[in-house]
Formats: sequence, C-alpha cells, structure tokens
Amino acid sequence: MKILVTNDDGIHAEGLRHLVGVAMQFGEVKVVAPDAQKSACGHGMTMRNPLRVHEAPPCCGMESYTVDGLPVDCVNVGLTVCWPDGCDLVLSGINDGPNLGFDVTYSGTVAAAMEAAINGIRGVAISMAVFADGAPFHFETGAEWLAENWSMLTSLESPPTTFWNVNVPAISYDHVEGHRFVRMGDRVYEDRVVRREDPWGRPYYWQGGVVVMNPDQPGTDVEAVNRGFVAITPIGVDWTDVETLRAHQSL
Ligand code: MN
Repeated sequence: MKILVTNDDGIHAEGLRHLVGVAMQFGEVKVVAPDAQKSACGHGMTMRNPLRVHEAPPCCGMESYTVDGLPVDCVNVGLTVCWPDGCDLVLSGINDGPNLGFDVTYSGTVAAAMEAAINGIRGVAISMAVFADGAPFHFETGAEWLAENWSMLTSLESPPTTFWNVNVPAISYDHVEGHRFVRMGDRVYEDRVVRREDPWGRPYYWQGGVVVMNPDQPGTDVEAVNRGFVAITPIGVDWTDVETLRAHQSL
C-alpha cells in the first residue's frame, strides 16, 4: 500500500511522527508536510506564489519533504513528487486538537483528507480531541487505536468522493470505550474576536474564541468523544443540502 502522510501542524509536529510510526507498519510511506504551523487554513491552496519543496530529515526514517504552503498544497505536491502514479491512502494528522462539528470547515487537517478524495484517493483525517489548554494530547492513544483498527478503517466502503474524519478522545488507550460511526455535531465559538491594544495604544484584534459545546447531541462526533468513544464521520465532498434541494424542486 502506497501512503502519503501529511498534516497542518507542520513537519516538526509530534502528532505527525505518531501517524508515520503507525502507517509505516502497513505500507510504503512518504511524508509531505508544511514547513510551519498551518492550522485553521481550511481548504486553501497557494496559487499566486511558487511552492518551494525541500527534502527534510526523514520522519521515522521515511522519505520526507517540506512545502512552504498549506496542507492542500502538500497533498498535491506529494502526488506530483512522491507518488506520480498515485497512491492508495492519504493520512492527515494526528492533529493536536479536535476537529469536531463545524471545525471541519476551518481545519487544514480535514482539508488534506478532502483533497485526497477530490483526487479519487482514500483520505483519512485523524485528530486528538483534547479540550483543556495544557492537557496532554495522548497522541499514543490515537496511534494505538489506528494500529488496532487499521484494516477496518482502510477498507470501509464509501463513494470515491467521501473521506473519513476521525476524532480520538485525549485519554489513555485503556479508557477508550470503542468507536462509533457518527454525524457531525454542533460546535460553535463565543467571543470570537478579542480587541486588545498594542504598546502604543493602537487596537488590534485576535481571533480565537471560547468553544461552546453541548455534549448532549446524540449520534454526533461531539457526543461520542465526550463519552470516550473514537468518532468516525464520513464526509462527502458534495456539500449540496439534498433535503432542501428536493423541497424546492418539488414546488
Ligand atoms: Mn492543526
């Protein structure tokens, strides 16, 4: 199995090494990652600047490259430089934070898996659902779960334009309850933009915000990880709201 591994936290991210460490047990791995932290860049791609690709010190001994761009750029560069004849799987992560509910629209981790699907390749995004600042990420739990469930996850039947978003609760592996197939939940932010002043009294604005998450959302990724389950969500590239479309077509 030919595998391309990427992320949005950059080539030096701890989670990337955990993901490569698992993938190399199951196939031939090549790594293409951003040269810096690129979280929350969504499905952006670099079009008005060249992309510089550099060979990097091998991640877990695997052929590795950096790109001075975004996760989507990394997938497309990887399919050009590493696997010009295509590959079987694109893995993205392990992200150092959750990608639950509407997070997927901002996530570079998820965007890389989506770009794989657009290229007709199985894409899997995997994230550690840690909720408290400074709490341990427990990447080892994500790695162990992935190793244990590799054949299940990589053989799930789905349309070619569907990819998989996996969130692992940031707890020790012994405490993981199992996994559930679930839909995206609601996860919204409050106090989205904070106004501050620089040392010269000029205002600046910093975006981030406090997550408001009601865990009582049965059948969702939000509920599953809050109950200690790994949440697996299939996501389609076709974002059409079929129900609303049908309602209007029948008018
Ligand atoms: Mn990230």
